[in-house]
This record gives sequence, C-alpha cells and structure tokens, in this order.
Amino acid sequence: MSNVVIVGAQWGDEGKGKVVDLFTSWADVVVRYQGGANAGHTLVVGGVKTVLHLVPAGILHPGKKCIIGNGVVVDPEALLEEIDLLRSRGLLADATQLVVSENAHVILPYHKRIDAGREKQKAIGTTGRGIGPCYEDKVARRGIRVRDVLKEGALRTKLEERLLGGEKCELEPLLQWSLKLGERMRPYVGDASEVLSHEVAKGRAVLFEGAQGTLLDIDHGTYPYVTSSNTVAGNAAVGAGLGPTSIHSVIGITKAYTTRVGNGPLPCGWLDALVLRYAARVNGLSGLAMTKLDVLTGFEKILVAIAYQLPNGKTVSEFPSDPQLLEQAQPVYEELPGWKERLGDQREYQELPENTRRYIERVEQLVGVETIAVSVGAERAQTIVRKNPFRHP
Ligand code: GDP
Repeated sequence: MSNVVIVGAQWGDEGKGKVVDLFTSWADVVVRYQGGANAGHTLVVGGVKTVLHLVPAGILHPGKKCIIGNGVVVDPEALLEEIDLLRSRGLLADATQLVVSENAHVILPYHKRIDAGREKQKAIGTTGRGIGPCYEDKVARRGIRVRDVLKEGALRTKLEERLLGGEKCELEPLLQWSLKLGERMRPYVGDASEVLSHEVAKGRAVLFEGAQGTLLDIDHGTYPYVTSSNTVAGNAAVGAGLGPTSIHSVIGITKAYTTRVGNGPLPCGWLDALVLRYAARVNGLSGLAMTKLDVLTGFEKILVAIAYQLPNGKTVSEFPSDPQLLEQAQPVYEELPGWKERLGDQREYQELPENTRRYIERVEQLVGVETIAVSVGAERAQTIVRKNPFRHP
C-alpha cells in the first residue's frame, strides 16, 4: 500500500470532498496537514447529514485513524462541536481513533476579532475564522499550541506575554475558557508525528487530505489573494511530521473548467492548461482527478486555454509568476468539439461520449499527467475510477 496526497489543483472548490470520500474508503489513516475549519465536507451516510470542517471524514468509518497534524490551526470550539456531534451519533467511541497534534496552533477569540476587523478594510476574501491571525502568531513565535492549553502555568505565562504584546482582552476569563476547552480536547491530543510514523511502518495506507487549492498557496498561489498556509503537496510532509519519502503519489483535483474562491485574478473560466501544468509542477502531481464534467454537456465547442498573450505581445505557455502579468494576460484557446449527451450514468471510462474522452485525453496531453478518476455528478457513485492511487504500480 502507498501513501497518497490529495490537493486542489486550482483555486479551491474543485470537488475535493467527493474524491476525498472515495479515497478515504481505500485508506487506513486520513491526515489533515494545513488550514483550519475553513475546509468542509458534507457527508450523507444512511440518510444522516454530517458536516465536518476539521476532523477528516474517515472518522465515520470505524477502525480508520484520523489525524489533525501540526500544520493545522485548531479552533477548539469547532473541533469539540464536531467531536460532540460524532459521539452523539455513536461514533468516535474509541478516543484513539482521533489524534490532534500537540504542536498544532490554537485559534483564540482574539484571532477571530482581528480577522473580522481586517476583512472590513481589505478584501482578501478570508473566511473570518481567525485562521490568518493564528498563523501570523505561529510565525511570530508567540502562538498558543494545543499542548499549552493543557497546562495552566505555561498557558498563563504565554497569554500574559501575548496580551502585553497588544491584544486587548482580559487574561483570566480567556485563560479559564482555554483551559476548559483544553481539558475536553485532552483525550485526543498526542504526538501525531509519532503515531503516524508507526502507522506508516505497519504499512497502513495514509491519505493526506489537502484543503483549499494550489493557487491559494501562500508561496505558490496568486499572492496576496491566497490563504495563510502552504496548500501544496510538499507541505503534507511538513504539516504531518513525516519526511517527503513517505509519500508515493500526489493527486490533483481539477474541475473540468475554472472558478476561484475568494478575490483575485482569474485569467479564464474555461479549463486553463497553464494553471494545471503549474499545479503539476509545484505539487509533483502523479495523477489528476477531473470533476464536474457533467456541467460541460451541451456546449457546441469546449475551449481550453493553452497559452497567454501578454500586453507586450509575447505569448507564454507557462503560468506567469508575476501577478501583474497575470492580471493582464489574455488566454489563447484551443477549441475542441463538445458533446450533447447527459453525463451521470456512465460507470466505465469507455462509456463516456467520444468527445468527452477526447477532451480528457487532450487535457492529459497538455498537462503531462494522467487522469486517474473522472467525476460525472455530485453523487458518490457518479465517479469513474481508472486507477487506484494506493496500489503501487
Ligand atoms: P471542495 O471545496 O473542493 O471540497 O469542493 P466540494 O467537495 O465542496 O464540492 C463543491 C460542490 O461540487 C459540491 O456541492 C459537490 O457536491 C459538487 N460536485 C462534486 N463533484 C461534482 C461533479 O462531478 N458534478 C457536479 N455537478 N457536482 C459535483
């Protein structure tokens, strides 16, 4: 068995939830390695809807271990709400099924206040959940970690320092609030890196579940319209506490067209091969999963951006790293014949209309990465799997 990373290959909303759900059924361990409670999966199991933002959906399957890595920022209230919900459904009876890294940073109420205040001034498009300010504290080395909310003495000192540093809030209520939540989190807190390394040593299949998308990565995305963490596959190792050699394959999820979450530049609404080639480069993609192909049914012609025309008259075929160039880039399209057939019932790749297959294969050629899964509808069953990434070739 191998260990697989899933990343969004565009700007988020690629339909990762469905692919994560499918891959989770093949994995023994599911790990979140970055972001916070801004990701989200709505799962319907046995007619009951469960919304999870932090805890990987693997928690719905008894026996699968779920890990919230050190790279995640944990909102204790959101986490405990999910834990309570799961327990009320008879899940998570064994606390060792969930491990929250003691090194993960904690989102405190002042992080949310800062976030809300800033968003009014500058519209980056954050979700207002305190994620950015929490990551700022982490990098500024003044953050509060999960391990800190378990120890009153250490927490008091750290909060005192933090509040002296400018946060306007009263120490005592914040301290007591944090300790109370810390106490409730305690059964789940552990050394996630160590737990994970044991699982890997036992040959258990690990799924690293990325949130948001490649173009929202703090380093490789369309800065400053990005999220506060590294969303790319390389951070799966860092944010979970393993080395990169423990990862065997990286699957990029892409919609069959392009949209973006939040504000910032978006060169084109058709599928953008430059974006995908870029995602393949910065993530080291070994496979693609293409979602929402059903949405393209009915177009006479389907366009794919294969280059950008820049204001200086130059045409480039690589995604420009200069945001100013990106703002002014005009996509150069290739036209492919569309299809009229409704998609949704096909279960085998060969059942797809010829022009749908032609489209997928042209994208593979342009990106240089094979498509291992194709999604033709929102339902779990509406997925054609061409290759299981957990199986070594
Ligand atoms: P994420 O942000 O990447 O995790 O995206 P989600 O998993 O939340 O997906 C966004 C929406 O797309 C959800 O409402 C999904 O049900 C829907 N979706 C996923 N795959 C498909 C698909 O192949 N076709 C259609 N029509 N909808 C899909």
